Formats: sequence, C-alpha cells, structure tokens
Amino acid sequence: MNTVQHFVNGKIWAGNSGRIADVFNPALGTATAKVALASAADVSDVVAVAKAAQVRWGAQPPAKRATVMFAFRDLLLRHIDELAPLLSREHGKTLADAKGEIARGIEVVEFVCGIPHLLKGEYSEQVASQVDSFSIRQPLGVVAGITPFNFPAMVPLWMYPVSLACGNAFILKPSEKAPSVVMRIAELLHEAGLPAGVFNVVNGDKEAVDAILDHADIDAVSFVGSTAIGQYIYSRGTANGKRVQALCGAKNHLVVMPDADMEKVVDALIGSAYGSAGERCMAISVAVPVGDETADRLIEVLAPRVEALKVAPFDDPASDMGPVISRQSLDRILNYITEGESAGAKLVVDGRWVKLQGYEEGFFLGGCLFDNVTSDMSIYKDEIFGPVLSVLRAKSYDEAVGIINAHEYGNGTSIFTRDGDTARDFFTRVRIGMVGVNVPIPVPVAYHSFGGWKRSLFGDHHIHGMEGVRFNTRLKTMTTRWPSGIKEGAVFNFHAGSDTKG
Ligand code: NAD
Repeated sequence: MNTVQHFVNGKIWAGNSGRIADVFNPALGTATAKVALASAADVSDVVAVAKAAQVRWGAQPPAKRATVMFAFRDLLLRHIDELAPLLSREHGKTLADAKGEIARGIEVVEFVCGIPHLLKGEYSEQVASQVDSFSIRQPLGVVAGITPFNFPAMVPLWMYPVSLACGNAFILKPSEKAPSVVMRIAELLHEAGLPAGVFNVVNGDKEAVDAILDHADIDAVSFVGSTAIGQYIYSRGTANGKRVQALCGAKNHLVVMPDADMEKVVDALIGSAYGSAGERCMAISVAVPVGDETADRLIEVLAPRVEALKVAPFDDPASDMGPVISRQSLDRILNYITEGESAGAKLVVDGRWVKLQGYEEGFFLGGCLFDNVTSDMSIYKDEIFGPVLSVLRAKSYDEAVGIINAHEYGNGTSIFTRDGDTARDFFTRVRIGMVGVNVPIPVPVAYHSFGGWKRSLFGDHHIHGMEGVRFNTRLKTMTTRWPSGIKEGAVFNFHAGSDTKG
C-alpha cells in the first residue's frame, strides 16, 4: 500500500516519526493508502529548510516570482485531468466537482501573476518641508497553512500562491484524510521553477499542528477548518505572537421571497445544498421561505428533485454526489437526522435507504430534506456537513433577517427575489461575510477576498484577494528628509568617509 510522505526541500521526504495513518477511499469504505504523520522534530527540520530558502526568495524582484506563477498556472491547467481523480478518490466528490475546485484554485494563481502591481506601495511627496513619506509591503518570513479535507486542492491554493508571490516561504499541513493531490501539485510548482525549500508539505495530525503553532520561526498561520479547531489554532497561535487567520464552520441560509422564481430557487438549492454531499463551508444548509404559501410551493417542487439525486462513486459520470468523507462523519450525520425527527421536524425526504451494489461499505447517504425546522433544534444550530437541508419557515422578511443575524455563524447567505429594494435592504442589514442575490453560493472570485463573520472567522483578514496580500506582508513606512542643499557647481564625492558637501 502506498504511503504518502512529505515534500520538503524540493523532494519527497519520509520524515523520522515512524507514525502513519490510514487514508480511505470513502466510496469503498476501506483504506487504500497510508499517510506519514510528522513529529514535532520533523516540523522543526522543515521550518529550518523553509527559513533558509526564504532569504533568497524574498529578495527576488516580485516580477521574477511572478514568472514562476505564470508557469505554475500553465502546468495546473495541463494536469487537471490527472489531478482530479487523485483528489476524488480520497475525498469522494465527483470528477466535475474536483475539476471545478482546481479551476477555482487556479484563479488565485492568476491573481498573483500580477504581484508586482499588487505590492506597489504608496508615496506622499512633501509631507513636511523637504520631507517625503512612503510605504512598502515586505514578506513576513515563513508562513504555514493548515487545511481541511473538503477542498484538498482549492483551499491550499487560496493560501500559498499569495504567500509565495509576496516573498514568503510556505509550509502546508494538508488534511490527513485527503493528502495526495497536494503532493503532486508540489511537484508541479517545482517544475514551474520554484526554488527548493520555499514550498514544503508536511503531512500530519495534531502533533504537527501544535509544533507549527509553537515554533518561533513561523511568522503566520492560515487555517481553514472547523470552528472548534480554528478557535484553538487562533488562541494558541496568537498567544505565541503569530499572525493568525482562521476560517471556520458555517450554517448558510437562503431566503426565498414570495416573488422568487421557484424553479431557479430549486435549481440553486439542489447544487448548493447537496453538491459535494453538502461538505462545503458555503453549502446552503437552511432554506428560509417567507410565508407558508412560499414554503408549501418550495417543498412541492424541491422534494421530488431531492429524491431523484443520483448518489454514486466519483468515477460514475452520472453521479450527482458521492459519499461523505468517513464512517465517523456518516454516523454523526445519521445521529443528527434522528435528533431532528425526535425534536419534531418533518423528514420529507429520507436518504438513509441508499445502498449501492458493490459499495456496501461505502459512506453513502442520499439527500435528506427536513421541513418545519425551528431555531432551537440541533439540526438547525449545528453545522451538519452532509447532504441534509432544513426548511425553516419565516412569517415575514424581517423575521428571516432576524433568524440569520441571530445565528452564531456568519459565513455566507443568499436571497432569491425579483425586488431590488428587498435585495438591497438584505445585503445592507445581514451580519454575514459573503452575501448573494439570486446566486446560491456567493463565493468571491480570487481578486476579491473570501471570509465570514462571527464564529466563521477568527482574525482580522479574509483570504486571497488584497486581504491575502495584506495578511502575507508587513507594512513598512519610511519618512525621509533630503535638504535641498544642491548648489550650482556642487561636487559630490562618493568615497568612504567623505560627506556630500560641495
Ligand atoms: P477540521 O477542523 O477537523 O480539520 C482541519 C485541519 O485541522 C486539518 O488539517 C486537521 O489535521 C487539523 N486538526 C484536526 N483536529 C485537530 C486538533 N485537535 N488539533 C490540531 N489540529 C487539528 O476540519 P475538517 O473536518 O477537515 O473540514 C471541515 C470543516 O472545515 C467544516 O467545519 C467546514 O465548514 C470548514 N471549512 C471552512 C471553510 C471556510 O472558508 N470558512 C472552508 C472549507 C472548510
């Protein structure tokens, strides 16, 4: 069985921990590979490599760093058909989904191809008599990324292209559940011309993460994952003096106004609630129809579409969604469904019957739809991270906004309406980081920034876009006085010890 190791100093490295874990194919429900788990000493070795490599890389002109990103973009595009199955085999998502996430990641690489422009500073002439002031952005040093299983390629790509282009060295600690695709991408990045040691992949679990959080030579940590872990990463990382951004869990609502086009709403919900088996931080997990009549129409059109979803392994071209990531995750979701039923919610579509021939041990679950959900139920309060959509009926638009604003998470939300006033009021009042109007998953493009509010993000910066550039650089501001003492016939001597007086 193949063991996924680490990628350090431009090559595969076994590390010295001797610890390994299983990597599953969730469609089969069996382990199909192993992954090395780094020790604190392994992490320390990698930090030393990264720190040494950063010195020259950070001193390169930004335009030189951009040439690596241009070549990297090209290689990713050429290898997308090879990368997608590597990703899907461990995650379970369809090939179309895998290609989609790689394509979104490539957009970040495209964004940083313009890094010379993005790093341009500000200059103020004559802030006082003969005094000028200017600001520049310099690299931080060594930055680490800790990423979740659900976007094994895209979420790391939100981080390291920006960080590298800004002149940092980067250490990526991917999810131990889906580690293979980043290892291949690391090779492509080096083929693109990145010097050895500037980008490194350390596989591991809590031991590696804690070593990253405690290492004095790591300047900043980007984290994406669940809220409980993100809050821990933020507290421990910042207590150690690091800059930390932690993008976390979510519960995303889609408001359906009475004037919305119901076919479009249902199309949007099918993709955003059930795509990738609901394992997206921007998945819509709550629909909030306004008025009982809207709610009844929604259920009538939506229920048969949820029943018709085809659940199948990633390499079945007809698959709408694959399995969830693990047995533990499946059990957790099943538990929520039981809790929802006993709390009095109506299970309109029950996906628990799904069984696939030849994949009896796979972690499959069909689409589930709950109606009459209330805000005190665990299926509403918690992030389920599976193909389960709750319908929470609101009596009025104001009640819908109040429900969303009262939720502890604030990642994304959307409203479907034909009324401009309502849409404008919605995106003004709602306390959420990313807002859509007639768009189901309002994920910002790479040159805007991605991030939630409330307990969906700890830290001050959103990720990629200009927020990513700010997170990955330190601002330095100079104030200079050059007395205008140039006299006619002045002679300047540049010998050591001489002054410049004519
Ligand atoms: P997770 O929190 O379990 O794992 C994320 C990372 O943290 C992994 O690399 C993992 O190895 C590490 N980790 C896990 N337990 C740890 C511990 N006890 N101590 C230190 N490190 C630990 O998340 P996941 O299950 O891989 O991913 C799903 C979660 O990620 C969901 O909550 C989802 O909403 C969230 N997510 C958020 C965003 C966003 O942008 N807000 C994007 C994608 C996913």
